[in-house]
Amino acid sequence: MALATLTSRGARVTPDASIADLVTYRIGGPVAALVRIGTEAELEAVTEVVAEHLPPVLVIGRGSNLLVADEGFAGIVIVLDGSFDEVELGESTVTAGGAVALPVLARRSAAAGLTGLEFLVGIPGSVGGAVRMNAGGHGRETCEVLVRAWVADLGAGAAPVARSADAFEFGYRHSDVGDSDLVVRAELTVWPDDPARCEARVAEIVRWRREHQPGGANAGSVFANPLNDSAGRLIDACGLKGLRSGGAIVSEKHANFIQAEAGARASDVRDLVVAVQRRVESETGIRLVAELRMVGFGDRS
Ligand SMILES: Cc1cc2nc3c(=O)[nH]c(=O)nc-3n(C[C@H](O)[C@H](O)[C@H](O)COP(=O)(O)OP(=O)(O)OC[C@H]3O[C@@H](n4cnc5c(N)ncnc54)[C@H](O)[C@@H]3O)c2cc1C
Repeated sequence: MALATLTSRGARVTPDASIADLVTYRIGGPVAALVRIGTEAELEAVTEVVAEHLPPVLVIGRGSNLLVADEGFAGIVIVLDGSFDEVELGESTVTAGGAVALPVLARRSAAAGLTGLEFLVGIPGSVGGAVRMNAGGHGRETCEVLVRAWVADLGAGAAPVARSADAFEFGYRHSDVGDSDLVVRAELTVWPDDPARCEARVAEIVRWRREHQPGGANAGSVFANPLNDSAGRLIDACGLKGLRSGGAIVSEKHANFIQAEAGARASDVRDLVVAVQRRVESETGIRLVAELRMVGFGDRS
């Protein structure tokens, strides 16, 4: 059994962990096991065991783009920490572990007088999640600043391999990083600049986010923007702000955000995602595509 083998190999395993503690929606069912990887030795052990037993794997960064079903996930959840949560500031590049929080990376780079990563301050994800999702905002995307990233193919039992940015097939909120790939580290381009100017840009982005986006439990934009349009504008134009399913509600502040109120279930959010998608399609002919990653909803995911 994979769990016993993982423990015997020194991996840090928490059986029957709660997904709700790992995602910004704060909802979702249990997982069979949470495995934390903080060293190269732990990575090697987990990679070998996963390749041998091939359990279903879900990699979670900051959980800021994830909705996991109330039934949970019958596999192992992998979370990076320790040495994969470290940042190394260079003169023209910054190297960050997959676990590093994007706002931390943006603020540390800015304070050191390194510009280029300020846009990441408003995205509450991790470096690994940003590579997988090609996260972006304020006119920039991760792929524009990525030099290379080290990716371990857990299913193949492979040690991390450095891949240059052009090998990721990046598109809008898309990369070719698969479910059993683990982005353990990334190198990003920066340029020297006056720290005060970098920090002013960071502050302006934080101010803009506070003004335009809701707080509370959500996972950012639910739908990707269709070509030459905005999902939020379409949802708003259909009069769907405030639409509710159980404890889930379309934000009054930003129509492309779905908030989970206290007591909400993952199925409430999922039902509301489907309801919004149907209403927008029937009224505009445009089928919105979810940017939110939904796990455990069967073929409805
Ligand atoms: C308030 C709010 C605002 C947001 N604004 C933006 C925005 O402006 N722009 C934007 O692009 N996104 C935005 N998001 C969404 C989200 O922050 C990004 O998609 C982010 O890149 C997800 O990173 P994460 O670490 O939270 O990934 P998770 O949600 O944990 O996972 C997302 C996907 O990435 C995979 N993944 C995570 N870590 C790794 C890893 N180390 N290796 C391999 N795969 C991994 C997961 O398996 C999953 O498929 C917002 C979210 C919130 C809550």
